[in-house]
Amino acid sequence: MPQSAVKVFLRTRPSDVYSPEQLQVNQDTKTFTIVQAARSSGLPSDKAGPSQQYQFKFDGILHNASQEDVFEVCATDVLSSALEGYNSTIMCYGQTGAGKTHTMAGSRASYAARGLIPRVISALLARLGAAPGLAAWSVSVSYLEIYNEALYDLLDLTAQPQELALYEDGRGRVQVSGLRQVAVASEAEALALFFEGESNRVIGEHQLNKQSSRSHSIFMLSITTTPEGGDGRSLASKLCLVDLAGSERVSKTRSEGLVLKEAGHINRSLALLEQVVRAASERGRDHVPYRSSKLTHVLKDSLGGNCATVLIANVWGEPAQLDETLSTCRFAARMARLVCEVASNVVQEGGARVRELQREVQELKEELAMMQLMAGWQQQQQQQQQEGSNSSRERPYDDTQRQKLQQAVLAWLQLPDDADSSGSTLSQLPLSSVRQLRELLLAVKVGAAVDGKNWNACPC
Ligand code: ADP
Ligand code: MG
Repeated sequence: MPQSAVKVFLRTRPSDVYSPEQLQVNQDTKTFTIVQAARSSGLPSDKAGPSQQYQFKFDGILHNASQEDVFEVCATDVLSSALEGYNSTIMCYGQTGAGKTHTMAGSRASYAARGLIPRVISALLARLGAAPGLAAWSVSVSYLEIYNEALYDLLDLTAQPQELALYEDGRGRVQVSGLRQVAVASEAEALALFFEGESNRVIGEHQLNKQSSRSHSIFMLSITTTPEGGDGRSLASKLCLVDLAGSERVSKTRSEGLVLKEAGHINRSLALLEQVVRAASERGRDHVPYRSSKLTHVLKDSLGGNCATVLIANVWGEPAQLDETLSTCRFAARMARLVCEVASNVVQEGGARVRELQREVQELKEELAMMQLMAGWQQQQQQQQQEGSNSSRERPYDDTQRQKLQQAVLAWLQLPDDADSSGSTLSQLPLSSVRQLRELLLAVKVGAAVDGKNWNACPC
């Protein structure tokens, strides 16, 4: 299975008090240096020590970057791999106010300020509409929110959180049961659903969380494409766009009451996210605690599983936010060590899959019959040895029986090759006993000697 390292980009939020001395973007636009002045107790006797320097290398730094740049750098490859059947995720991580929602959803202030989700929707549907050689495609949209460890459907506010549950299907893929998945045929339909989910998130802000930054949101696009003239197989992928809750520490926000409870959940789920990322990036580690929180469970594939993942670490480049910027960079550097095992998801068209399963069942039935036959034969042998006699079942065939069997074998050999590939024509030579199996082999051997022309085709 091909491996793909998680790609990590750092995005700085523009600020009038951005401090280029403390937050240095190196010329390679990949290396970020944080210079932290030494802390002093303020006492005249306490001399400040030397400042600390921390250096981080990312796949790219988006400093003063436009929304268009962010889409080009972070999403175009992801979109291509989603169309090739690879699961893909883009997620934004960082403290509240650092620009996660601005990056993911964007602002409605202007068309140019739209974020990754509307841009991905437009580009995806434009590419599908213009893609040559596609017999069919389908896209469906879901919008999930995780707030205080409960799941909410942003496309269906009537759904109660207890109605949404996480489970792993037969192939180990995490699914959300009860989550509305709406099929869309156009960019306008998909955008309408995105805006509906966004306004539901705002309603939720009043009812539940004071700021949407206190919840994690996951916008999901499920894509299926079927090539023209293929064998009925399709490519299926899931593209997740994740806006994580703010990663600031409770002590800093001096939270109380409900806000403190929320912060507790956020901190816990982000701490568990860090734990999962750390465990998944350790080589040879066989247990990764994905089920420890709803967030890590939902994102299981995106964190070292079958998924091409991009992390955008949003930082607020002001001196007062240096500690949070440092902790965001540390998390991002850990994410960069994650390697995902990616594989294109091929799904078979219903009819072809049913035929394949029927063939498998038939083969298993034949194998079972053969095992029973062998077991019976062994029993018979033991019995014969005890009785010292030959049973009638073990008596060789007479000439008429042999001739009949040879004719049946010859007729089967003359069937066209392609009819054999399914194994279905073998049912014309049913196996009924070990004696018959022996006679069948003899018939093939004798026939080969008698009629070279026809029997040369024998695949034995
Ligand atoms: P977060 O989701 O991380 O809490 P937001 O995305 O809501 O933060 O950003 C906080 C404020 O800063 C918003 O008003 C947003 O429009 C503004 N903002 C964030 N990043 C940028 C940016 N790159 N350019 C312009 N404005 C930004
Ligand atoms: Mg936000």
